[in-house]
Amino acid sequence: VASVDSVCAAAVEVARVAAEAEAGAPGRVGPHLGVDAEGERVAVHRFRCDDPGYRGWYWAVQVSRVARARAVGIDDVVLLPGDGALLPPPWVPWSDRLRPGDVGVGDLLPTAADDPRLALRVSDTEGWVDTDAWLELGLGRPRVLSAEGRDDAAERWYDGDPGPLSPLARAAPGPCLGCGFFVRLAGTLGQAFGVCANALAPDDARVVSVDHGCGAHSEALVLPSAHPAPVIYDDTELDLTEAAGHAPGSVDAREASEPYGHS
Ligand code: SF4
Repeated sequence: VASVDSVCAAAVEVARVAAEAEAGAPGRVGPHLGVDAEGERVAVHRFRCDDPGYRGWYWAVQVSRVARARAVGIDDVVLLPGDGALLPPPWVPWSDRLRPGDVGVGDLLPTAADDPRLALRVSDTEGWVDTDAWLELGLGRPRVLSAEGRDDAAERWYDGDPGPLSPLARAAPGPCLGCGFFVRLAGTLGQAFGVCANALAPDDARVVSVDHGCGAHSEALVLPSAHPAPVIYDDTELDLTEAAGHAPGSVDAREASEPYGHS
């Protein structure tokens, strides 16, 4: 970096006037903090900003001159954050701020054309070699889960509530794999995951791993049926009774009070 040009360095008041003009109100430009070389015959003067809304900021006024000129011109005036300046938190893209549950009724959530969780169908790109995803073909979808998207989901599910380490699973009498309510997923994810189809289980209608489990396991506690099979009468073995003297299907008072089957 060149040394500070002496004419530019001396132009403190010229720079101050420019800063005050930019500040727009008196009392917002404080003491001179210093001057730095920006190039040959180019320098930046710094003034403390005394605007109460910008504590820790400073005015930077760039001045320069042409060769052999004894006067400087103003190139730029900006307000910059210094040490201890109050700044907003770093900007985070909306796609990184989204959390599960943020998508509500009627909301549309876009996915990038190159979202790494998705892969094009084999007919759309040559050289696509994810053989696992071949299993997903034929359903008319432009994109299917990529290996990365599938691994993401598997890790998230396995390490979360649907996996074997959740409190529910740890206290379970047996794994989902041996439960009659376990419905295995199709495709590669089916090697480790299925859906719980037990209306009384906490995970009903949710993905569960083969080694997840809960107290509603179909084989945990098998009781005698609460609905005994109905008694089926073999009417070829019944004694027939003559019911003469009144219309078919009716009984008299004596017959009605007698036990069934007696004459
Ligand atoms: S009832 Fe329990 S053990 Fe059976 S599939 Fe559902 S979560 Fe797994």
